[in-house]
Amino acid sequence: MTTALHPDKDGPVLSEETARQPYVYRRRPLEEPDWRRIPGWRDVTQDEWESAQWQRAHCVKNLRQLRQVMGDLLDESFYADLERDQAERATMSMLLPPQMLNTMDSSSTDAFHADPVRRYMLPVFSDRRTDWPSHPHAARDSLHEAEMWAVEGLTHRYPTKVLAEILPTCPQYCGHCTRMDLVGNSTPNVDKHKFTVKPPDRLGAMLDYLRRTPGVRDVVVSGGDVANMPWPRLESFVAALLEIDNIRDIRLASKALMGLPQHWLQDDVRAGMERLAATAHERGVQIAIHTHVNAARSVTPLVAKAARAMLDTGIRDVRNQGVLLRGVNDSPAELLDLSFALLDEAAIMPYYLYMCDMIPYSEHWRLAVWEAQELQHAIMGYLPGFATPRIVCDVPYVGKRWVHQLADYDRERGISYWTKNYRTGLEASDPDALTRRYEYHDPIYTLPERGREWWRQQAEAA
Ligand code: SF4
Repeated sequence: MTTALHPDKDGPVLSEETARQPYVYRRRPLEEPDWRRIPGWRDVTQDEWESAQWQRAHCVKNLRQLRQVMGDLLDESFYADLERDQAERATMSMLLPPQMLNTMDSSSTDAFHADPVRRYMLPVFSDRRTDWPSHPHAARDSLHEAEMWAVEGLTHRYPTKVLAEILPTCPQYCGHCTRMDLVGNSTPNVDKHKFTVKPPDRLGAMLDYLRRTPGVRDVVVSGGDVANMPWPRLESFVAALLEIDNIRDIRLASKALMGLPQHWLQDDVRAGMERLAATAHERGVQIAIHTHVNAARSVTPLVAKAARAMLDTGIRDVRNQGVLLRGVNDSPAELLDLSFALLDEAAIMPYYLYMCDMIPYSEHWRLAVWEAQELQHAIMGYLPGFATPRIVCDVPYVGKRWVHQLADYDRERGISYWTKNYRTGLEASDPDALTRRYEYHDPIYTLPERGREWWRQQAEAA
């Protein structure tokens, strides 16, 4: 039996139970902030804003362009902080579509600095840890994907699934990108690796491998971001996948569904996706788009429109794979706000939240496994079960594990131990692959003093 706290017939009725909940759900209308508040976009029309070409041509790629757009909305101190990060820390070059920059709070330099989207899309030096900017076990290709390439760019890690990195670019670059080894332009800190095989030959080799490998049923078509591949080439690659009898699931990875929704709203893209969805339907294959949204404020009406346009083509689903990042979405309320914005307002299925991988200079973004476990616990029970995102740790040489699946955990040193139940492409003849324990490491600054001291001693002895 519930008791109305506000029996006033015009006011919201709160039950006693609701009033005591750690999180209170309310529908929140989506908002497209007015871009004309930004000095550089004062005269930009709605038609221009909604044009993919205009968005691409006006992406912010460097400090000079950021100054031109933001003008004196930001203090000099911010630009200096950014410049230092670009020179000394950044693993990704700057690339911000206006759509994404517009969702950041630009009401003051402090608000901009604190903005969750700014924190991961436009990192500054003062964001980063100075004690341990990188974990000693951080690595460029921290998931060892290139070691598991069956052919260049095709990672065969799980028994039935492959990841096809069809191109190394995106319409936007995220500061924490896991594929910082390969994706985007080189920075002063990171000389990017390059694919060596020409794109048509590389894609052809991937298709050949899949035709010869009947144990694979699921292809994640990624990069990079598939929105950067000219549509006819992407369509012909996906159409070729649809011809392979054992391929039953095709997932197209595109953060641009959020970062540049204008791309997915173009007539040729919608028409092409309709053709693919029709063929997939005939053959009983599921096509889905997997996007990457980390903060509720990124879900705007244009993002919702793009997601619904894609669902209207007949594809199976649009799902979100966000990344759990400190200062961005590390509270239960932020994760639930994000999930409800996606699910209720944009028809995007909250699916996974990845822990941030152990790449260089990512310590300030990373959470400890125990923190991720607490967050998973805190968000259970509010969303429908099918839409409750699973928080997963991508364990090197293992793959995704739910954060409660660890086999052991040394909380003092921040080392979690994980096992697996399949062999990756590297371990066909390794008798210990399924009994070995694989490690993941918490950020050192989250450890008790004895653990931090242990890591200091390890570093001195190295
Ligand atoms: S969109 Fe994905 S691949 Fe591209 S930079 Fe961001 S995280 Fe990396």
